Amino acid sequence: MALSVKHGSHSLLLLNVYLPYFTGSDNDDDYHKFVAVIGKAIGIIGTSPTLNACIIGDFNACTIRNTLFGKEIRLMCDDNGLLLSDVTLLPPDSFTFYSDVHQSTSWFDHCVSTLQAHLSITDINISHDVLSSDHFPLAMSFELPTSELSGPEPVRSTTIRANTASWERATKSDIEAYHRRCSPLLSSIAIPYVALLCSDAQCDNISHREAISKLYRDITNAMLTSTKTQTGAWVERVCKGTPCSSETFIYPV
Ligand SMILES: [Zn+2]
Repeated sequence: MALSVKHGSHSLLLLNVYLPYFTGSDNDDDYHKFVAVIGKAIGIIGTSPTLNACIIGDFNACTIRNTLFGKEIRLMCDDNGLLLSDVTLLPPDSFTFYSDVHQSTSWFDHCVSTLQAHLSITDINISHDVLSSDHFPLAMSFELPTSELSGPEPVRSTTIRANTASWERATKSDIEAYHRRCSPLLSSIAIPYVALLCSDAQCDNISHREAISKLYRDITNAMLTSTKTQTGAWVERVCKGTPCSSETFIYPV
């Protein structure tokens, strides 16, 4: 089940999952089902028009104990630039499941978020006073930016792609002019050495993740800005047949 919440020009996609329980070996059928469902969920949020998206639900995977499913979720987050928001924001001894039989607790329910959705979480807690099953609900509050203050919601890069130049049509001098513009912009980017030198393969330090996301944004902004400062003639030549307009490229060389 998925819920798309719209607030002005911003939206939030909440995708609910219920993953199979892992019983033992990685040859288990449930393991393959687990990986398939997670892959599908990531595909859905990866192609959604909003960058604010969360996968929430019963992952049946304890990320605190080193279980196979728990490790799989952490790997999936690392590979896809996603954050385990609940594990990042809640105390390490949290639990969402109580086994009456074994008199033990586990942290099976999770919220995996994009960086944008993670940053909009204003409150998260596990409601241990709600007893409707052996799982306790994960309660979360989000605050989306108001359109008036933040402008339109940032769009996914695949949407931007339609407005970018086609490089094979650029001449040698177009490319040289691009280099001249791009090089100082790239040189002026602050390098987050601490985050880049972090050697923890399982690092969930939010400031490291944010620093790396900012570096990525700075680099792509520098490159996009450099294409926007080419001559109108080149823009016309390289953008012929694509929807970009001369208004997009306002600064003549
Ligand atoms: Zn780190």
